[in-house]
Amino acid sequence: MLNWKHPNVATIKCETSGGICQRAWVEIDLAALAHNVRQLKSFLSPETALMAVVKADAYGHGAITVAQTVLQSGASWLGVATVPEGIELREAGIKEPILILGATHTPEQIKAITYWQLQPTLCNFKQALVFSQTLEATAECKPVPVHIKLDTGMSRLGPSWQEAAEFVQLVQRLPKLHIASIYSHLATAESVDQTVTRQQQTRFESAIAQIKTTGIPQPLLHLANSAATLSERALHYNMVRVGLAIYGLYPATHLQSKVNLKPVLQVKARITQVKTIPPQTGVSYGHQFISDRELVLAVVGIGYADGVPRNLSNKMTVLIRGQRVPQIGAITMDQLMLDVSAIPVQEGEVVTLLGQDGSEKISADDWATELSTISWEILCGFKHRLPRVAVERF
Ligand SMILES: *Cc1c(COP(=O)(O)O)cnc(C)c1O
Repeated sequence: MLNWKHPNVATIKCETSGGICQRAWVEIDLAALAHNVRQLKSFLSPETALMAVVKADAYGHGAITVAQTVLQSGASWLGVATVPEGIELREAGIKEPILILGATHTPEQIKAITYWQLQPTLCNFKQALVFSQTLEATAECKPVPVHIKLDTGMSRLGPSWQEAAEFVQLVQRLPKLHIASIYSHLATAESVDQTVTRQQQTRFESAIAQIKTTGIPQPLLHLANSAATLSERALHYNMVRVGLAIYGLYPATHLQSKVNLKPVLQVKARITQVKTIPPQTGVSYGHQFISDRELVLAVVGIGYADGVPRNLSNKMTVLIRGQRVPQIGAITMDQLMLDVSAIPVQEGEVVTLLGQDGSEKISADDWATELSTISWEILCGFKHRLPRVAVERF
């Protein structure tokens, strides 16, 4: 058992039976993470680089430990959303290239980017100009590697693919900037219908063809997220940017046969009280659950302030001793209740909210389906009040 310190979270010092003394925590299986990266890397051609996307604290898994593990397992780039996310990794001693996928434009951000040797995304001319001028005014003399983001159909960052050649030529002429890559992002890669993806790829290729005619040295090209990485090799180019799949989830069910992935994150909590309630007893705020018989109720020390969505109230099950147990009543800020009439449980016992116990499994996909959302949002929803604890299962 390995513990690590997360900003805002005290280091866990106690290692009691089961390893954890907390009321609730997130377990990160580093062996599963390394396995996923190796699986993905072996799925790519040897020349294709793997960028592990570790934005949003590595989708809630803890960015530093995830970054260290994926870099040891075959990833060679890291992708983050913001400057502070990049700085956190540099402060932890990580030396590999870090691309900031989000837009940055203030002189303070630009100075931090050069100081920490992060690599920015350029998505419009005004921003490129501010970058170049800020760099010229600083002592920094080496050109900064920049990455050009094109909009081929996502309608998010970047100039339209039709303006790509013009934009690239303008950036090329600015002092202190070196174009390291040109990339775009797919809007519907996880869809069975690949029409939009084809159209985006055609636009990307036509932009690249035009850029080539301007005579600029050919930079790296990249387009694929997890879904595109798993769906088609023609979308890989020089590098793929993989987030969800390294955490062991599939972007869509039809992509499950491509590689074998193992979920990395589990959410666990302890039973803090067990009691019997008579029939016709209301449970929790609003009495949304009323017992129809005498039942044994367990209180668990985790709630919506930890990231268990309140909309799962009365709908979710948890795992105890390898069995499914229904949650009852409204999920509260710090606690939730279970009907444990069917199995003998003890105070202090561990409950699995997400993860595997015996042959039973509850995945982020199950919660996402119940809540009409996506597994990405479920993973990012666990708050920093829950310590991230690294475990290695062999
Ligand atoms: C978040 C993100 C990714 C990773 O997406 P997944 O679907 O999680 O693989 C890739 N590229 C960009 C630009 C992103 O913002």
